[in-house]
Amino acid sequence: MTRRVLRGAIVLLAGAGALLPLPPIAVERVYATGVYPWLQQAVTPVSNVVPFAFFDTIVLGGVALLVWYCWRQIRAARAARRLGPVLAGARTIVVAAAAVYVVFLGIWGLNYRRVSMNERLVTSTERPASEAVVQLGLEAIEQMNVLHADAHAAGWDPQPWRDRELLTAFASAQRLLSDAPPARPGRLKWSVFGLYFRWASIDGMLAPFALEVIANPDLLPWERPFVAAHEWAHLAGYAHEAEANFLGWLTCIRGNASARYSGWLFLYWQVAGEVGRDGRARLDAALGDGPRADVLAIHERIRRGRLQFLQQASWRAYDHYLRANRVGEGVRSYSEVVNLILRTRFEDDWTPVRRNAASAHRESAQAPPHPSSSAASWR
Ligand SMILES: [Zn+2]
Repeated sequence: MTRRVLRGAIVLLAGAGALLPLPPIAVERVYATGVYPWLQQAVTPVSNVVPFAFFDTIVLGGVALLVWYCWRQIRAARAARRLGPVLAGARTIVVAAAAVYVVFLGIWGLNYRRVSMNERLVTSTERPASEAVVQLGLEAIEQMNVLHADAHAAGWDPQPWRDRELLTAFASAQRLLSDAPPARPGRLKWSVFGLYFRWASIDGMLAPFALEVIANPDLLPWERPFVAAHEWAHLAGYAHEAEANFLGWLTCIRGNASARYSGWLFLYWQVAGEVGRDGRARLDAALGDGPRADVLAIHERIRRGRLQFLQQASWRAYDHYLRANRVGEGVRSYSEVVNLILRTRFEDDWTPVRRNAASAHRESAQAPPHPSSSAASWR
């Protein structure tokens, strides 16, 4: 009886977690800046002890257990010549899946429901003009052209989580966005899924159950600081891809020349995917020889590694996953970072202006909150 109640409670909890609307302010206070940072600070340092991903053991062990269990129930059904064991097995699998989902929500997934960056920061509601997007790309290119020589001379640490300057940058970038205790960075881990990352053109991933970071083994040195900072942003509870890109970029541009180069290169890459043919030609004309070679090397890395059908299937699956977790734009949410940067109000040194709850209400009551004439402060 107690078992049945427990099973029912798990399924109910999972259903409620998936369907019940949760107020973002409450999720932000209780979970994202309350329970979660404490959990992250306890779990990630333990995960960092080993260079391989616990995720591998969890997934491969889970699949092996599932196969063994199905086989056992089918064998029992055949021996008894009745369907009972198969039905009982199906029920157990549903309860186990519900339990995994509840653990996922508790250890990281609820971050999808926290306050969005639009609520957190002073942002314009207007969509940026296409010329502003090109200008942002040109600014990124200018930075890349200036930083290229210093970045290549200093080189890149294969393990960004040991780069003191990047860690300091990560902590200060987080403080710009939230008063929660800063998240601990994760080492870029080796995984048996690395091959899959290569074929599907995935740069990295936050593995939720052990709050660890898995990286594509083929990443080029100048890609690593940004990919690390993006995944650390997920570790800091910014689940939305545009927000992780935003914090990843804010982190890198506060680091040393090598990290700054990586951050601006990322932004250039995103902008290049957003602009039309004319815009791309203007960006292309501005790109120096050194940065151009680095960009081409990334294109070549992706081209060499990918298996097109797997890449498309994997991005389609991720699109479904994001939509199921209430990210309406799906995988398009990555490039939303360009809009986010252009709509956010910055002070000097790319310091985003935060809004507090009281002024947020006042501002939304008075339209328009941000005059478009003050373009200089909007970058
Ligand atoms: Zn991500």
